[in-house]
Amino acid sequence: MSNPYTRAEFDHLRSLGNRLVRRHSIVLAIISVSLGVGSLWFIQWADARFPRPQRIIFALGTFAIFIGIVGWLLFRMKRTARNVALKCPQCSEPLKGDTERIASATGKCEKCGGVVING
Ligand SMILES: [Zn+2]
Repeated sequence: MSNPYTRAEFDHLRSLGNRLVRRHSIVLAIISVSLGVGSLWFIQWADARFPRPQRIIFALGTFAIFIGIVGWLLFRMKRTARNVALKCPQCSEPLKGDTERIASATGKCEKCGGVVING
């Protein structure tokens, strides 16, 4: 159990966390679109130059690399969102999504009813 946040602390930490998660989602969007277009171009290039068995291997390999990189970026974004989520000072429950909005509006934790924001 720790002290409740002040309104300024809560808003500042919430804003920092949201900015960090937004940055991760922009990187995810740019990289996944670039990789998607790049892999389509590569598969088309390989189709014109290699026999069918090799083309299938190239296509599957390209797809596996795409899924691996995008999956890793998604994992990083989720982990960051979890790490930057504010926690209830009373029960240590993460405040995210609706729980965070309720805490911001009422100053209380939805789960335990404890004071999250003082004043
Ligand atoms: Zn709580």
